[in-house]
Amino acid sequence: MLKILMTRFRQGCRTMPFPKGKPPVLPARYRGRPIAAAQGDSVDLGSITFVPDSGIRHSGDFRMAVSGREDLILAGDVYALAHTVKKEILKMFGRSLKLRQVSAGGCNACEADINVLNTPVFDLSRFGIQFVASPRHADGIVVTGPVPRNMKDALLRTYEAVPDPKVVIAVGACAISGGIFDAGPEDSRGLDTLIPVDLYIPGCPPHPLTILDGLLRLTGRIKVV
Ligand code: SF4
Repeated sequence: MLKILMTRFRQGCRTMPFPKGKPPVLPARYRGRPIAAAQGDSVDLGSITFVPDSGIRHSGDFRMAVSGREDLILAGDVYALAHTVKKEILKMFGRSLKLRQVSAGGCNACEADINVLNTPVFDLSRFGIQFVASPRHADGIVVTGPVPRNMKDALLRTYEAVPDPKVVIAVGACAISGGIFDAGPEDSRGLDTLIPVDLYIPGCPPHPLTILDGLLRLTGRIKVV
């Protein structure tokens, strides 16, 4: 026991200070938010999969979550990062937000990066944000995957089971637009064709910091910059 305590003491606090302090340093291979290639060109962050040979330049910035689908269309350097939800909702969820995660046909990479937020490094619960097992205990849902036909009913029933007012968060290109499954016969063509979405977090998958940054913007802990 003493050995364990000594090890923990030596290790110190492993939780990153984000959003306080200096911005986190990510590995050089991390690509981050794309930059539109040339004047007049635009990039839809809600549908691209950030593949290395796409010809798009990247900024290395992990901040990508937005409040509106149209904000994901990147043209030039202007990019409207997410803002908080409506004041009355913020009053209820700003300090305590319980979320139900719905995996609707994704590949599990988005889900894995959401799970990472519960590790000591990110420690999501220090912000009062927690994932719960039942939609009836939740203030909103986090959806991953392209919502294929077989998941549509389950998703809509989960959404209905969350008491009002509620928030909806789309994580990953699949949930936002269909992603790599877009135009497939089973794909729903984006979560917002089924239910209203309050926060869009692009990526395939998004970096955990991108997800955390989006959640903190939604709950007003990071103000729009
Ligand atoms: S957006 Fe990419 S990483 Fe996420 S579920 Fe779809 S294919 Fe997987």
